[in-house]
Amino acid sequence: MKPPSSRLSCPSVDINGYAGRDLVTNPVYLDHNATTPVKPDVIEAMAEAMAIGGNPSSVHAQGRAARQMVFRAREQVAALVGVSPEAIVFTSGGTEANNQALAGGQRPVLASAIEHPSVLAVSDHQQPAPVDGDGMLDLTSLARLLEGQRPATLAVMMANNETGVIQPVKEAAAIAHEAGVRLHVDAVQAAGKIPVDFFELGADTLSLSAHKMGGPQGVGALIFRPGVEPLPLLQGGSQEQRFRAGTENVPGIVGFGAAAALALEDDGYAERVGALRDRLEAEILALAPDAKIVGGGASRLANTTCLVLPGLGHDTQLIHFDLAGIAVSAGSACSSGKVAVSPVLAAMGLPVDEASCAIRISFGWNSRDSDVERFLDACRRLLARRQRRESA
Ligand code: PLP
Repeated sequence: MKPPSSRLSCPSVDINGYAGRDLVTNPVYLDHNATTPVKPDVIEAMAEAMAIGGNPSSVHAQGRAARQMVFRAREQVAALVGVSPEAIVFTSGGTEANNQALAGGQRPVLASAIEHPSVLAVSDHQQPAPVDGDGMLDLTSLARLLEGQRPATLAVMMANNETGVIQPVKEAAAIAHEAGVRLHVDAVQAAGKIPVDFFELGADTLSLSAHKMGGPQGVGALIFRPGVEPLPLLQGGSQEQRFRAGTENVPGIVGFGAAAALALEDDGYAERVGALRDRLEAEILALAPDAKIVGGGASRLANTTCLVLPGLGHDTQLIHFDLAGIAVSAGSACSSGKVAVSPVLAAMGLPVDEASCAIRISFGWNSRDSDVERFLDACRRLLARRQRRESA
């Protein structure tokens, strides 16, 4: 056996043929709803946490230091959504938080038709609550469904991952509570992008994910109202007030806390990314008047565009933009890789021929004007190709 090297060696990496491309020095990353790069201050905080080490359950000094770091992160995440630190259970991400809230909560569960798969997979009703053509929850149908189906819990996301459409959560909470139904809110895409106030929303449980706001992947939180304690999915330890057994992901939790604090401080985020998104949409519509902005009539997250370029299938678009060094996605990341028509767009009643030409462009904290320019350049070339094809 070779002796372990005292220095870390960094082998050259070729990820699916990406080696040699300009991905590190000059990428155009417009897929921030899939995951957004970890902010430098977050990396620093995580590196410090890893250097300190320690298990928060240990009584010695390192253990106490780790416990203190987790405590501080809990306060930071709590501040982001206006709850007390005890209301937070750290999880492995938004998926686990949604699963615990719903599989470990009161059943049956009725979900809106545009929920993330981690919600739909643990909801019960065949007929989900419908949305209108702009992707907004239909409150009249919701009231009728609650009466007919008599669920114990309703799941409504705060903002949709594919369209960015912001849902009428407060109104849904009032309707649900009137019917004696609890409300779970998936705020994974909203938190860090728009204000999220747990109590003002009327949520009973709410889920968050660090990697959508500049924190690391693999850490999230489930937030619950006192008296609404979801059952643990993981057992065998008293961590997280017994709501989640297992040694805490201390560096991840510290990174999550740092990302939450940075998001709360960043008042200018929506204005910055909104200016980029609005410019991109305006210029695309000028270049291609037949283009369509999905959910464009609704209130949306400032960073998200779901764009239909008729006659250009989303797989063609993804390949074209990828070859130009630009990362965008078709539908949600969880369903990309196998590019199929999005259930969210289907629920909005988008015809298949339009839905199959939809891509998602999502900006983030490090997006720049030059990203818009590079995207528009690539888009012009793509539209010219379409023009040549049509006139051939
Ligand atoms: N909910 C929504 C709305 C999401 O967009 C995602 C991820 O894309 C999740 C939940 C899952 O979160 P995670 O990736 O942390 O498991």
